[in-house]
Amino acid sequence: MKVWIDQDLCTGDGLCEEIAPAVFTLLDDGLAYVKEGDKIFNSPGGAEGLANIPDGMLEAVVESAEECPGECIFIEE
Ligand code: SF4
Repeated sequence: MKVWIDQDLCTGDGLCEEIAPAVFTLLDDGLAYVKEGDKIFNSPGGAEGLANIPDGMLEAVVESAEECPGECIFIEE
């Protein structure tokens, strides 16, 4: 499973990073991005910045997507 964020809709509240810090990170621009280890998908972000969800993290990623106030976390097969 993979995950991406639509930064155009991100409010920058950081909920996703609180729930799943291994997958989401806030950058200096105040927006959240997905990551794989040290690799942050911010160039490009959006739908072109798809990160693999690590084993065992799917539940936290789903919770992040459900809680996300911007409704901008998208999970794909
Ligand atoms: S929870 Fe959603 S709106 Fe909040 S920082 Fe993460 S992606 Fe952005």
